[in-house]
Amino acid sequence: FNDMAKYKRILLKLSGESLMGEKQYGIDEKRLSEYAEQIKEIHAMGVEIGIVIGGGNIFRGLSGANKGFDRVKGDQMGMLATVINSLALSSALGSAGVKSHVLTAVRMEPIGEFYSKWKAIECMEKGEVVILSAGTGNPFFTTDTGSSLRGIEIEADVMLKGTRVDGIYTADPEKDKTATKFTEITYDEIYHRGLKVMDLTATTMCKENNLPIIVFDMDTPGNLKKVMEGEAIGTLVHN
Ligand code: UDP
Repeated sequence: FNDMAKYKRILLKLSGESLMGEKQYGIDEKRLSEYAEQIKEIHAMGVEIGIVIGGGNIFRGLSGANKGFDRVKGDQMGMLATVINSLALSSALGSAGVKSHVLTAVRMEPIGEFYSKWKAIECMEKGEVVILSAGTGNPFFTTDTGSSLRGIEIEADVMLKGTRVDGIYTADPEKDKTATKFTEITYDEIYHRGLKVMDLTATTMCKENNLPIIVFDMDTPGNLKKVMEGEAIGTLVHN
């Protein structure tokens, strides 16, 4: 373990939507390989890496329900979408020369091995990136909650939430030009200000289990490494 890295073990959350890159749907190979390169950079620092990816670029149970799909089946479709994204990332990591292992919250061997905390830690200790797919395995949850849960389970030092915005703002910076960015914020202040960082279930799990989050812009190459080097480029959320 290289002491250049601020954290020994991380849980990286990537949204499915960000995998679309410039596209309207699905996976942009260019974005995917950019992410793989960024992950490779911090892997080379000796960091133990767990990753949770969303599925919003393919299917979301809630939007499906609004179009008449059964919510539980829609959520299952969403969970399968996260498996598709996880396999794509695993493949891109392989092309970049980084070994990874996809675990699934629902049994579907041989696509991925069934998740357990110990299996995930074993992979990371062997130097593999571990991709924790299918969210929590349950409907009515999100991958943000999945990543809070997995981050806590695998005893990550921090959850890194890679987004297209460079942190948490007083208001949506894409809509309100007067919005200002927080360098640091407490969980209580997020509730108090009604900020939409993650859904409340995910936020509460992190708060109650004392898992800090860093929200940062993952779409700029090199940023993941900067976060690992302790540069304050995003927003740190803590108790
Ligand atoms: N999902 C679920 N349970 C989970 C995680 C995800 O049912 O534990 C479903 C849910 O339908 C969700 C979809 O998978 O909408 C995709 O995940 P999410 O919306 O979190 O993806 P993101 O917004 O990060 O792309």
